[in-house]
Amino acid sequence: MPQFGWEHFGDFDDLGAPDGECELCGTSIRYVFPVYHSKWGTMEVGEVCCDHLTSSDYASNQIKHQARRTRFVFSPRWSAGKSGTTSITQKGVALSIVPDGSSYKLRMNGRHGKLRFGSVLEAKIKAFDLIDSGIVGAYLLKVKLRLDHRHWERAYD
Ligand SMILES: [Zn+2]
Repeated sequence: MPQFGWEHFGDFDDLGAPDGECELCGTSIRYVFPVYHSKWGTMEVGEVCCDHLTSSDYASNQIKHQARRTRFVFSPRWSAGKSGTTSITQKGVALSIVPDGSSYKLRMNGRHGKLRFGSVLEAKIKAFDLIDSGIVGAYLLKVKLRLDHRHWERAYD
């Protein structure tokens, strides 16, 4: 079996309990990472072996990300507001999950998103990924700069 040159592919699987078995070391695993090597094919391994085979910290980062996301989703910092809205401030972003008919939308720093979600949980998970990846921060900064610029222009009209 090749020791180097493996790649991870697709999403890892969370079994919810250590019910899986790493195909490399035989350890019981909860998080199953699919890996691929052109000279070997595919295997399903745990995060330690995935990092080892891919010479990266991809798998352990994924696990950390998932743990932080779970803490965020179930955080006591969420506060319930009017008409079923639930809000939190995360990394400087004022985030609300706003019910809209039978679905939910995100509101960040007062701006409504276009995405719709079937459940509050889904909306929270997506919001975490957007904020955590820095996508939202960059977007809001751009909006703010544009607004500032407009104010600046207006001042010199
Ligand atoms: Zn293993």
